[in-house]
Amino acid sequence: MHNAPMKILIVEDDLSIAEQISLALSAEHFVIEVSNTGIDAIKLERYFEPDLVILDLGLPDIDGTEVLAKLRAAKKTVPVLVLTARADIESKVSALDLGADDYLAKPFEMLELVARIRAITRRMGQAVSSVMEYGDVALDTAAHTLKVGDVTMDISPREFAILRDLLQNIGRVRTRASLEEAIYSWDKEVSSNAIEVHLSHLRKKLPKDFIKTIRGVGYTVNSQQG
Ligand code: CA
Repeated sequence: MHNAPMKILIVEDDLSIAEQISLALSAEHFVIEVSNTGIDAIKLERYFEPDLVILDLGLPDIDGTEVLAKLRAAKKTVPVLVLTARADIESKVSALDLGADDYLAKPFEMLELVARIRAITRRMGQAVSSVMEYGDVALDTAAHTLKVGDVTMDISPREFAILRDLLQNIGRVRTRASLEEAIYSWDKEVSSNAIEVHLSHLRKKLPKDFIKTIRGVGYTVNSQQG
């Protein structure tokens, strides 16, 4: 299956948040454009034609709710995920009234944002390129398959959850607790040595030192490998 990559417009004036979202979504093979103002976002939407818009409500020029209202007034049906730092439920409710598809309160976890986007795209019935690649390793998050070089390897659901978590956090160290959380949906009772057991199975399938142990801290796939 070769679908065109899905295009996402990020409307966010906080440059650091915009950058973090960009990086996380690029890693998921989405094509990204960023706009830092509402006016710019409306212009950009017209020629970029995104499949999804991530919209911050607090923008420096016009309010995010106004951007949303203008899109909907122009009969744009593109799904919109609203980001809001506002604690008051009213802005969220009004965003949903204006036709937002979902919202996420700041601060949020990137993993949650990615999960929400996947949920929206599933509702849209749109196929998303689902392969996470790093070096010789390719994990297909839709087909649940692992390829190392040209070789397809068997991967258990728990190994899959651990590897996906590590690949979503390239360069960061994941503690045992965060990996346990990653496999929690598969395994309601994670025994204390379960992570080590799954990691040891996983490592046999991966290139040497692909997953590094940071003694006393956790595990990482880092960007220093050839
Ligand atoms: Ca803002």
